[in-house]
Amino acid sequence: MFVDSHCHLDSEQFDADREPVIERALAAGVTQMVAIGTGNGPPDLEAGIRLADRYPQFYATVGIHPHDAAKANDDSLKRLAEMLKHPKVVALGEIGLDYHYDFSPRAVQHSIFIEQMRIACDARKPIVIHTREAWTDTIALLREHWAPTGLGGIMHCFSGGPAEAEQVLELGFHLSFGGIVTFPKALDIQQAARIAPADRMLIETDAPYLAPVPRRGKRNEPAFVVETARRLAELRGETVDAIAQITSANFRRLCLG
Ligand SMILES: [Zn+2]
Ligand SMILES: [Zn+2]
Repeated sequence: MFVDSHCHLDSEQFDADREPVIERALAAGVTQMVAIGTGNGPPDLEAGIRLADRYPQFYATVGIHPHDAAKANDDSLKRLAEMLKHPKVVALGEIGLDYHYDFSPRAVQHSIFIEQMRIACDARKPIVIHTREAWTDTIALLREHWAPTGLGGIMHCFSGGPAEAEQVLELGFHLSFGGIVTFPKALDIQQAARIAPADRMLIETDAPYLAPVPRRGKRNEPAFVVETARRLAELRGETVDAIAQITSANFRRLCLG
């Protein structure tokens, strides 16, 4: 049994066939999925909750993506705090910094990231981090505003090497490996996957993005998380079953414990 710890099944890319996609996930042994609730940003913060309310296999997150930081206001932040009380909301995210697109000004990305860490801390929930071309600032903010809470979290779609892995492990984070670890040229990430402590690994698809080999370039879906588990198993000299078991146990401990 696999847990896809990060997918965007609210995406309009699934509007035509969401039910068959979920059926294929279950048939592949992906029995639990986390619907990331960032959607198109405020004012709609319930993209993940809608899926979790409808399907027993889903948990949800709520959060304001760095892309949407400029759309946030006091009201949306207050509502996030309320939504974290929903019984199926397991974390706050994905939050962080994205300097690749810079869809929101960096100063706004920083302040909304910090505000959301405060809200998650008050709710005693882990956070899910998105960081792109903003590694140094992300680490600095996590070190100052999150590590002292001891609450941990998830580096979603982890795309660093062993040195970056060490940094975030020390801050209490889990490494969530996605489709990129299956790409032939992703040698650094593969090395991180080899050395990652077994009790700090998760797997995810980030569907509909970043499909693993052999589906690379296609729309991603939760069933394909099995391919990522297969690659992790090869890299670590373990069985796919062992990867499924440990990553599912890690998810339960971090998010349901
Ligand atoms: Zn992301
Ligand atoms: Zn995502």
